[in-house]
Amino acid sequence: MLYVVATPIGNLEDLSARAGRVLAEADIIAAEDTRRAAKLLGHLGLSKRTASFHSYSSPERLAELVEELKAGKCVALISDAGTPCISDPGAELVAAAWQAGCKVVPIPGPCAAVVALSASGVPAGRFMFAGYPPRKAGERRGFLAGLLSAPWPVVFYEAPGRAEDLLRDIAAVGGRERQVVVARELTKVFEEFVFGPAEEVAAELSQREVKGEVTVIVGPGAPVETAAKQPSASELAAWLAREGLPPGRIAAALTALYGLPRSVAYESARRARASKRR
Ligand code: SAM
Repeated sequence: MLYVVATPIGNLEDLSARAGRVLAEADIIAAEDTRRAAKLLGHLGLSKRTASFHSYSSPERLAELVEELKAGKCVALISDAGTPCISDPGAELVAAAWQAGCKVVPIPGPCAAVVALSASGVPAGRFMFAGYPPRKAGERRGFLAGLLSAPWPVVFYEAPGRAEDLLRDIAAVGGRERQVVVARELTKVFEEFVFGPAEEVAAELSQREVKGEVTVIVGPGAPVETAAKQPSASELAAWLAREGLPPGRIAAALTALYGLPRSVAYESARRARASKRR
């Protein structure tokens, strides 16, 4: 059995009772960082066998953990904070566990993207989670261009020192007035939400050193105009003529669709047929 256990993103009280029980009962804690895991386990009064499992773990480490699972051991996967596999390591182990025929059980809990959205006031019937944007400015703007036209909010993770640059690029790509929410230090003592147009919030952040952890929400883009351009009567006549319709049928279509008098419609159809022949 592999348990995928969400842990607090700041406030240790957010560890669920079920997560605490699973960590207590697991044979092995597979942790992104075993030292951080030791702190959490110490807080719970637990002394457990841990195994490091992170983005750079070798295939051998993955195989060892799968062997433990196949041998009937109970492994609890945790990351440094929040839900494993969400911008965090773990997906390879989860996939390998399923493939090996083991049971995988999620133990839900905090996820910064969802925590930020829940208190942002931004309607989130639909939203897009974009993780960390690229670090290079050019790549980042291209990345944003592909995301910010959607009519739903987009959530980003970002390092505190890069938050201002991200907001400036959001203003450049999505418009200076594009509404954003910066959720900082969620569930911690200095928790803060900053709301406003991207450019203003960027200016505000430029006045101070942004510390701690930051999640950025960009409000939905304007609804995209989806109505296709309607052809004019003469454009439609030309198109129908090219399709080989006789003048009588073209005229009938123009009368039905544009309300043209029969004589005017017929003349337009005749001209379209004539110019097709030229
Ligand atoms: N797996 C985690 C989760 O479920 O949220 C996310 C891990 S990702 C490596 C870390 C990023 O999540 C941070 O850089 C920040 O963008 C965001 N984050 C984590 N904790 C946060 C907090 N307390 N407040 C605001 N953002 C946070």
